[in-house]
Amino acid sequence: MSPVSHGTFIAVEVDESVRGDTELAKRLEEACPVDIFLASDDGVQVVQENLDECVLCGLCLDASPPGTVNVIKLYDGGAVLERAA
Ligand code: SF4
Repeated sequence: MSPVSHGTFIAVEVDESVRGDTELAKRLEEACPVDIFLASDDGVQVVQENLDECVLCGLCLDASPPGTVNVIKLYDGGAVLERAA
């Protein structure tokens, strides 16, 4: 997994195994309230400019297979946002 980090506070990682999944890309695009995910013909794109808009809602985690999308709190020592129980 390679981190896609650009924002100061938040990084979002999408696992290689699902990055080309256009259906997942559409689900993520719909799920995220601040447009951090973009569905393209190539699959999931992370919109770097919007990363710091992340509200830690966890909807992207709910929309994806377990462990394939990680939201990393860079301001919190790299803690990973946990999926709501
Ligand atoms: S936690 Fe919410 S705001 Fe942050 S990337 Fe996921 S869906 Fe978007």
